[in-house]
Amino acid sequence: MKFKKIFVFYILFFFFCRPEKNLSFKIFFIDVGHGDAILIKIPTNVRYLNILIDGGEEKYSDDILIPFLKKQRIDTFHYLFVTHNHSDHLGGVLKVLDNFYVKNIITCQKKDSDKLYLRFLEKLNHLQLTPLKIKIGDSFLLGEKAKIKILNCYKKGDDENNSSLVLKLIYDTFNFLFTGDIEGKKRSESSSVCRYAEKFLVERFLKELKAKVLKVPHHGSETSLTDTFLKLVSPEIAIITAGRKRFGEVILPDTTVILRLLRKNIKIFRTDNGDHNPQEAPGDDHILIEIKNNNFVCRYYSPYLIF
Ligand SMILES: [Zn+2]
Repeated sequence: MKFKKIFVFYILFFFFCRPEKNLSFKIFFIDVGHGDAILIKIPTNVRYLNILIDGGEEKYSDDILIPFLKKQRIDTFHYLFVTHNHSDHLGGVLKVLDNFYVKNIITCQKKDSDKLYLRFLEKLNHLQLTPLKIKIGDSFLLGEKAKIKILNCYKKGDDENNSSLVLKLIYDTFNFLFTGDIEGKKRSESSSVCRYAEKFLVERFLKELKAKVLKVPHHGSETSLTDTFLKLVSPEIAIITAGRKRFGEVILPDTTVILRLLRKNIKIFRTDNGDHNPQEAPGDDHILIEIKNNNFVCRYYSPYLIF
């Protein structure tokens, strides 16, 4: 009888607790139209540490974001970063909090009075989840090979976009820069001007900004990605999270930003790839970065196809 119990224990252990071997590092830029939703899966020796940066618009969470995350067999997020309080970043986070266990949440720390933000606070309160107190320069270790460093958050006087969390992820020898919606200039100014959050980053972090992959700030808006900032980041790959959305006269991403990247031979991946101007087509242009045995791959990704 005792032997039988031990046997059953081992069978259960094998199925539920065995280490998931040979895991690869993954970043998914989920196509949520105009907005950011970035899933990072960091392998440790037993399982993935799951991290989410933003959740896109709330209207796309039921059909796109939540099914995508569930298909990745996620039940827990070790860190959930909300870069800032605009609806194309914060909206889907509310549904994430409803559907998954979130261990730690980190926000830009700017307070707001709009309806969405107040609903967000209410939900955090209901879940008894308090955002971690952070300051610029703080780092979070993620297993043995990964670390996230906070390069920007709300500073007194920052507007919403420039209060965005800017995160540098280091995994092994690879560097990634996530920039929320920070800006570097006014619309009419040339790209040689550098102000706002981009100026702060350039002055404070200088060579630390260098990264293989850059999440282009503010959906490729012409008010971001100034020459000085781009020169310091000097990425090989630029990811543009956009939905070909028109805001009055402005369509994001802006052609001048695309040209700025192409002129420097930077490879561009965009979540509005092939979308018809100016209509959003969310859900069909996810981007995946995968690293396995030091082999780096960036490609478009369909959750329904096996490559
Ligand atoms: Zn945005």
